[in-house]
Amino acid sequence: MRPILLNPGPVSLSEGVRRAIARVDLCHREPEYFELQDSVIQGLLDVYQRDAAAWAAVLIGGSGTSALEAMIASLVPHDARVLVLENGVYGERLSRIASIHGIHNQALSAAWGEPVDLAALDDLLAKGKFSHVLAVHHETTTGRLNPLDKIAALCSAHGAALLLDAVSSFGAEDIPFGEPSLQAVAATANKCLHGIPGLAMVICRRESLAQDIEPRSLCLHLQDWAAQQAKQSTPYTPPVNGLLGLAQALQELERQGGWQARRSRYLELAGRVARTCEDLGVRQWLPAEESSCVLRSYHLPEGLTYNELHDGLKQQGFVIYAGQGKLAAQLFRISTMGEISNYDMARLEQALREVIAGEEKLR
Ligand SMILES: *Cc1c(COP(=O)(O)O)cnc(C)c1O
Repeated sequence: MRPILLNPGPVSLSEGVRRAIARVDLCHREPEYFELQDSVIQGLLDVYQRDAAAWAAVLIGGSGTSALEAMIASLVPHDARVLVLENGVYGERLSRIASIHGIHNQALSAAWGEPVDLAALDDLLAKGKFSHVLAVHHETTTGRLNPLDKIAALCSAHGAALLLDAVSSFGAEDIPFGEPSLQAVAATANKCLHGIPGLAMVICRRESLAQDIEPRSLCLHLQDWAAQQAKQSTPYTPPVNGLLGLAQALQELERQGGWQARRSRYLELAGRVARTCEDLGVRQWLPAEESSCVLRSYHLPEGLTYNELHDGLKQQGFVIYAGQGKLAAQLFRISTMGEISNYDMARLEQALREVIAGEEKLR
């Protein structure tokens, strides 16, 4: 039986996507490829019903971090003053990207897993010192869903541009695209969209893309990718098979009822895992209402190391995920993204009972 991936991407693929990625060999300078590229770009805009006159979806070869780096390096002007919201690994990564590119930045930091201090954000923005805010939507470090509606509204109220890491939320959580502050959103094919790794994207306002900004990078310069893709071209070799997979994955998402239906499905699965864990005395790291639909963190069960839990579940065909950095000794994570059937979920519940309760019996 194929393993079920419960790590936060890459995800278990549907049979349709698995077939699509190997469907045909395509040269990226032929019309067949450009048809595919156009359809993926349109499909990405359609996920949140973005009008192509106002918004661009720009494809980039690389992981989610490439999309983040392309977004920040390409869309933040050289005289910008950036505020970064940090409450986990990914917020800290945004600061690092800004610093590497010589962008003036300051962090509003909370401990990993703690909420963003909205009053402090309001205060800092009110002083008018920041032109841009970088934020993570779903902080995958702990599963915390940051209150994007409130963050975006504060940015709009104070005239700051918001650039968003939605790498682990695009396709499954609500994104307030109507907020004028929201300028750009970075995402990846291989998380909530259910495609394969290697293809990332930035969905951004055309006015943001039209800024005249001296390039900070050659192959991550978003304006180049966008300009070429707009005229049925590509600056470099794109991940062709990633596009084949994503085209299929986007069709499946639409057929299944779009991001709202995906959110409901993820919530149902996350709830089932949480209830099973609760039955077994395993506590959630964060309250469910502060967590994303995508991933939940749990305290490691007493008397069980992460490796024992991981290996026991892997033997039964499930790949879970460790905590990052200092959280590695304290928590484990289960993501319910990807193609997970009700049958897979029933097997997972059984496996959790065996590995966690079985160990208890041994003590
Ligand atoms: C997965 C993830 C990323 C990027 O990961 P890559 O390994 O570069 O694909 C960035 N931000 C968040 C919130 C993520 O969950």
